[in-house]
Amino acid sequence: MPHVDTHCPYCALQCGMRMDETRVGPRDFPVNAGGLCQKGWTSGELLRTGDRLTTPLLRRNGELRPASWDEALDFVAGRLAGLRRDHGADAVAVFGGGGLTNEKAYQLGKFARVALGTRNIDYNGRFCMSSAAAAGLRAFGLDRGLPFPVTDLAGAGTVLLAGANPAETMPPFLQHLRNADLIVVDPRRTPTAEQASLHLAPAPGTDLALALGILHAVVAEGYLGKSYVDERTRGFEEAWRIAAAWWPERAERVTGVAAADQRRAAELLAQAENAYVLTARGTEQHATGTDTVGAWINLALALGLPGRAGSGYGCLTGQGNGQGGREHGQKADQLPGYRKIDDPAAREHVARVWGVTPESLPGPGRSATELLDSLGRDGGPKALLVFGSNVVLSAPRAQHVQERLSSVDLLVVADFVLSETAAIADVVFPVTQWAEEDGTLTNLEGRILLRRKALDPPEGVRTDLGLVHGLATRLGQPAERFPTAAESVFDELRAASKGGPADYSGASYQRLRSGEALHWPVPSEDHAGTPRMFLDRFAHSDGRARFTAVDHSGPAEPSNAEFPLQATTGRVLQHYQSGAQTRRIAELNTVVPEAFVEVHPDTAVRSGLADGERAVVRSRRGETVARVRCVPSMRPDLVFLPFHFPGEGRANLLTNPVLDPVSRMPEFKVCAVSLARADT
Ligand code: SF4
Repeated sequence: MPHVDTHCPYCALQCGMRMDETRVGPRDFPVNAGGLCQKGWTSGELLRTGDRLTTPLLRRNGELRPASWDEALDFVAGRLAGLRRDHGADAVAVFGGGGLTNEKAYQLGKFARVALGTRNIDYNGRFCMSSAAAAGLRAFGLDRGLPFPVTDLAGAGTVLLAGANPAETMPPFLQHLRNADLIVVDPRRTPTAEQASLHLAPAPGTDLALALGILHAVVAEGYLGKSYVDERTRGFEEAWRIAAAWWPERAERVTGVAAADQRRAAELLAQAENAYVLTARGTEQHATGTDTVGAWINLALALGLPGRAGSGYGCLTGQGNGQGGREHGQKADQLPGYRKIDDPAAREHVARVWGVTPESLPGPGRSATELLDSLGRDGGPKALLVFGSNVVLSAPRAQHVQERLSSVDLLVVADFVLSETAAIADVVFPVTQWAEEDGTLTNLEGRILLRRKALDPPEGVRTDLGLVHGLATRLGQPAERFPTAAESVFDELRAASKGGPADYSGASYQRLRSGEALHWPVPSEDHAGTPRMFLDRFAHSDGRARFTAVDHSGPAEPSNAEFPLQATTGRVLQHYQSGAQTRRIAELNTVVPEAFVEVHPDTAVRSGLADGERAVVRSRRGETVARVRCVPSMRPDLVFLPFHFPGEGRANLLTNPVLDPVSRMPEFKVCAVSLARADT
């Protein structure tokens, strides 16, 4: 079999891979330059996993039993039609994922709004980077994770990474930072922080105060980019009015980061010829996530970095299609092309492409956490269709989410294995995985990539596009409105995105197959794409970026006598997201097979625990059991749990579903907990 050049099934770096049968290896591609992490190297194993679903499953007498595709599709379409008839279109809902291809994200949005007529569609990207998207939109008028190619970072003298741990989440990315002094902001001494010139470890939930302290130092030490601020921005005075009160010694009292280190960070950023500020989940997953990212953007603007060649601000997207997944309409408030769903011109344009009237399109729906919370309640959806997401593990306050999922009349899950969410469904559809289908994704630098089909799926398995087609046609939609070929869907997506902020109209499969590097916007077939944005003007109508007046307020749930510690959640090198894929790969699972909790040795002793013992971690919402890892570099007031594991080790049994008011992102990164021996 000839080899196939494709991309990794996991994170947003989307490393280039070469496949031969199911063996994978790296290839020379700009973002990974011949490198892959352990997850990428072992991803071929996923295609041979022994517990692959190959037939639809229907719950009968309490048990999931095999059914034919026609039987399962007829059953689901019949129930959906009945629920819509009896309770209205919003009685059915769709939940998507940031790992789905652009074509699937697009088709799910169209399916929800046209075939189902519901406003209730959102996706798990709401959990993982919506705060950065909201802050980027507010500051620059347009959100694209990195508005420059990753390779530009090699020219940086200083890079500040706030709440990012690429040494574990996307190791090949680090090669682009090889020439920079790294400033790492993270309460934990992560493998990324180990490589830093300066590690700033703020108390959990105080990152915003730290950003204000560094901004204060920038201004006080005379590093403000005055002419840039005057010519390319607005709102500095309002932002400074708040930051002026955050001199570094005050920020030190709140964050625990020495004032001298804050000044050193300001100096390193200001004195480098080229510098970048990059943020990730650590800054976003807070009840104040949008403002926290906004505070780091303010710092970058004060230094004159965004929109300057060789410098900038960017967000490191997490999921494989975290960027494209939010642009094509599976988000509650958006239509394809990254258009707002309540914009009359956007509705008019997209309705024309879809062959419906603008009036027939529903308005904005509930955000992910609110959608899950409303399931089965009065006025909430009575049916949910889940694609590319394992919310039983990945949603905050997970036990509550599981109860809401169990309360609906119909839960349908499309997956390639029986994930923890699929296991409680009424109907499960077996769908293709990454190397068994064509599709495009958009990586963290806004580059549109073609992930090619390398092998046929097992018999009995269909694509998500085929599943949507089967349901839509049974619901009375014309077959041609829901094609099953990814290229046909992409061509329609191009038309729907035309003229929008994320314009893909000039990007064809033909161009992608030829290897062209197309960063959106690509407004015509003779346009070369836009690797670098904002060099002349930002996307606000006056061309200027916006400072935002933001202030520190701290975590929504402070610690107290009953819950004296703070818990934060995150990732490890060997696992990806809910672990539904990586826990099935022996080489990865052997290294990290179960849940653990990182604890400072003194904290462990105070809790009567020793390294390797099982601990129970409790919050106001539930408890989880995990094995203790004593880590001397941990803050004594903090514990860390990865969220990849099921059962009693589910970290999200603890997390706080309080939402950021702008992005509606939950506060995964900090909640108050207690720690004790598991047998007490
Ligand atoms: Fe590259 Fe990310 Fe895949 Fe690792 S998981 S190989 S960093 S795309």
